[in-house]
Amino acid sequence: MRCIFCRIVAGEADGDILFQDEKMTAFRDMRPQAPTHVLIVPNSHVSSLAELLDTDSSLLVRMFSQAHHLAEAMGVADKGYRLIINNGPDAGQVVDHLHLHLLGGKRMPPNRMSLRWKDEMA
Ligand code: AMP
Repeated sequence: MRCIFCRIVAGEADGDILFQDEKMTAFRDMRPQAPTHVLIVPNSHVSSLAELLDTDSSLLVRMFSQAHHLAEAMGVADKGYRLIINNGPDAGQVVDHLHLHLLGGKRMPPNRMSLRWKDEMA
């Protein structure tokens, strides 16, 4: 059985698709962590960042660029948004098809490392 994101890309499983071209698809996350939560995925099954860098590294730039365009279109670009790739088990990657999370529409806390760094610099 193909992975869930491959099936959404192919139109074989439900997905709220916001953008699609020959290389990538963007759809809403089914369990949103923010008012705007979109996943941007390569259309072909690519498990990890390393695999994408080996096969089509230019797509990575296009995915980030598309994320920004979507953030603008969804009205969250001005106030800021977060882009996340959970790559591998230690990062908590659950779906084994590389995806870029776009999160926006609410104030998110700075990460703890940044706070520690800010304290050290003060
Ligand atoms: P990650 O932990 O980075 O692998 O994130 C996987 C994300 O995929 C989670 O935020 C899930 O809510 C989301 N997700 C899983 N299945 C679906 C689906 N069928 N449609 C939309 N989002 C999904």
